[in-house]
Amino acid sequence: MPEIGRLHLHCCKGRTSMATTDLLIIGTGPVGSAFARLIGDARPDLTITMVDLGPQVTDPPGSNVRNLSPRLRDRARERSQGRDRPSGDDARPVHIEGTIMSPGGTYLASPGHQDDMPAAALSSCVGGMGVHWTCATPRPNDDERAAFIPADEFDRALDEAERLMSVTTLPGNPYGNAIEAIAREHFGDALPEGREAAGLPMSAIPRTDGTIAWGGADTILGDTRVILRADTIARRLLVEGSRVTGAEVEHLPTGESSTIDARVVVVAANAFQTPQLLWASGIRPDALGRYLTEHVLIYSVVALGDEVVERAGTDVPVAQLVKDPTASTLGIPYTEDVHPFRTQIMHMADPPFPVDESKVDVGAARYVAMGNGVRKFPRAEDRLEFSDAETDAWGMPLMTIHYAITDREQAEIVRATEDLRSLASRFGEFVPGGEPALMPAGTSLHYKGTIRMGDDGGTASVVDQRSRVWGFENLFLGGNGIIPTATATNPTLTSVAYAVHAAPAVLDEL
Ligand SMILES: Cc1cc2nc3c(=O)[nH]c(=O)nc-3n(C[C@H](O)[C@H](O)[C@H](O)COP(=O)(O)OP(=O)(O)OC[C@H]3O[C@@H](n4cnc5c(N)ncnc54)[C@H](O)[C@@H]3O)c2cc1C
Repeated sequence: MPEIGRLHLHCCKGRTSMATTDLLIIGTGPVGSAFARLIGDARPDLTITMVDLGPQVTDPPGSNVRNLSPRLRDRARERSQGRDRPSGDDARPVHIEGTIMSPGGTYLASPGHQDDMPAAALSSCVGGMGVHWTCATPRPNDDERAAFIPADEFDRALDEAERLMSVTTLPGNPYGNAIEAIAREHFGDALPEGREAAGLPMSAIPRTDGTIAWGGADTILGDTRVILRADTIARRLLVEGSRVTGAEVEHLPTGESSTIDARVVVVAANAFQTPQLLWASGIRPDALGRYLTEHVLIYSVVALGDEVVERAGTDVPVAQLVKDPTASTLGIPYTEDVHPFRTQIMHMADPPFPVDESKVDVGAARYVAMGNGVRKFPRAEDRLEFSDAETDAWGMPLMTIHYAITDREQAEIVRATEDLRSLASRFGEFVPGGEPALMPAGTSLHYKGTIRMGDDGGTASVVDQRSRVWGFENLFLGGNGIIPTATATNPTLTSVAYAVHAAPAVLDEL
């Protein structure tokens, strides 16, 4: 078996017969990789097969493109942008009405059928969005967490998720420290202890030379031995009564179909394509595809004034200290009632879009891009509708997104915008075009709720507290779609923690 990085590639060319495995994982993103790692560590004797409809675009498979040279990064991003991806100069992010709708490495989820969520996007590659992500891994707080999982149990799952993802807080710099101090003063005692502005936890490994290895799905997978089938789509789960017996898969480059016989199946194919696969398999519980939420995003850009420079007390130019703005990001956590949003403050030498510096008072501390993520409350009518007649570019049931912001969210958007304005006034002034703006629905890239977890026996949920599909013995789901609550916090750490919480139940079936 040829080896690719730390994964073992099981070449499927010409295969038409049935393969067998103990555990089949559909989707190789951070959550599928977490299931593989947890089961592989506990039972190294088992065979684990992972399939992904996308190509392998990085080496090791699933590693973060931000660890690559710009040329290789652009190529990897382009190759992750779906079947109908543009090439060459056209491979840049999709822009609609002047807004970045689909950043590099992603593509629109269902063009022509996503008017309600125009920026909804997917990444299709080994490692999923975990190859393209920013690596922010804050913990969920208060009512963002599912009430039916005991707090201490979920804390332990989060601890383990942080270990798997190599979560760390990166060292600060004098400017970042000044911004943090001003933000802390601004909120005073209003925020509970431990919820003040602070360096954002990141899935990252600082190297001794000062550079950073950004975390990807490969970080989570570690040295786990798996059989990886890239470019291989799961078309249908095979169902016998209350059990799945495997999946029908197709190797896309050759068009050859085969079945993979499995004792247990985990589907971790994101919040859009997991419910799509269940639908295609005739598994259609009432809650499937419903309760779609995301983080409503308000975004702004601020030119930093003299106070930041004075308090930083350094002459070193920002460009020298902040080579990658992602490494210089502060967060203000979600706190129910008091601060029901998640603030992200990214410090940068150059603004994210061209700014006429003759029209703005920008000091030597330069700029921050600041955003508030606002929660969206789950409603059954915010849903994915799958067609039995039409198919998407992958030949899977065509998806139409139904989604709307309600008065309840509108009120929180107003509050979150005021919160941003008030904090920004302590830092400096908004640049022209950088006033707080509500981003188009889907911009967050954090889609949740469509395969939601519950303790209600399946009335308004798809999986139980251990991520097992209601009514099935050996079918488990993973990913942000599991998240049943209204959340403002970046979801990947939470979803990996739900996988950690589910792993003992998966092991019981093996
Ligand atoms: C630019 C960017 C920045 C981000 N920043 C952050 C951040 O800072 N913090 C954060 O928490 N989150 C962030 N995210 C989101 C984060 O990447 C996702 O939450 C995370 O990747 C979800 O993991 P997953 O394994 O559930 O799904 P995915 O990573 O989406 O992986 C699912 C995989 O399933 C595969 N698949 C789908 N259908 C099938 C099928 N039928 N057969 C076979 N394979 C299939 C897909 O090809 C995909 O590879 C960001 C995303 C992007 C794109």
